[in-house]
Formats: sequence, structure tokens, C-alpha cells
Amino acid sequence: MPDKDNNITELFDQKGNLIGALITAELWTKIKPSLKEYLPNQEPPEKPEPMADWEILRDYWDFPYPVDMDVKCDHCGNQTDNWQEDEPRKFKLTVANIGGLVSYKCCKCKSRISKRHFKDEITTETTPYQESKDANKEACY
Ligand SMILES: [Zn+2]
Repeated sequence: MPDKDNNITELFDQKGNLIGALITAELWTKIKPSLKEYLPNQEPPEKPEPMADWEILRDYWDFPYPVDMDVKCDHCGNQTDNWQEDEPRKFKLTVANIGGLVSYKCCKCKSRISKRHFKDEITTETTPYQESKDANKEACY
């Protein structure tokens, strides 16, 4: 049983100014819900785009056509000729794998656009965003 006073440890800088406090996990769990109104709406940080995977796919590109950079959202009509050059981005890369599957997220409507690369064709599929399914999702800002 920790001593009551040890639930909170105040932190001071070298000049003795209070700069923060450390609290125990036990206390934090108890008070966290009541702190919500003091905290900014906390969105989970957006996952970074898997650019390394994309680079690998490009490096090992063995399809009989050039790397395709165009993306189109069939859900809201958002489109680009080169997703990597848009500023701000219209689409965010979410998946790139060496097998030729590349997924993007539409920054307008959050739909997921999946492109599958085959020897003789590219198929594209747009999956509209679903709130419940992607509750702990990435968002576009
Ligand atoms: Zn869209």
C-alpha cells in the first residue's frame, strides 16, 4: 500500500519552479476520466505512411507497365494523377506490399482505395469509410 503522499510527486526545475507532477498508475486510472474536460480532444496520432514499403515495391517493380501514381475515389470522386505530389495530400498511403497491393485513404471521405497490381491489369476497389469498424483509425488533417 503506497503512502498516500506518494501518489503524487511534484516535479521542480532547478530554480524551484513547479513544472509538473508524477502520479501513480493507480491514482491516474482513478482520476483520468474526470480530467477529460480539461484536456484537448485527443485523437490518436496518425499512423505514418509506410513509405519504406512503397520504396521496396517500386524497387522491385516487375510489372510490365510503369509505376502508377494515379488514385481515384469512387465514393466521393476525389482523384489525383500523382498522389505523392499533392500538397496537401488528397490520398494517404496506408498499405504497400511487394506483392502489388497498394492501399490509400481518401482524405475527403476516408474511403479506402485498394489497388491490386497483376501482370496484365490493375484492379481498383473503393471501400467507403465505416465509423464503427475504423473506430481507432487514422484521420487526415
Ligand atoms: Zn473519397
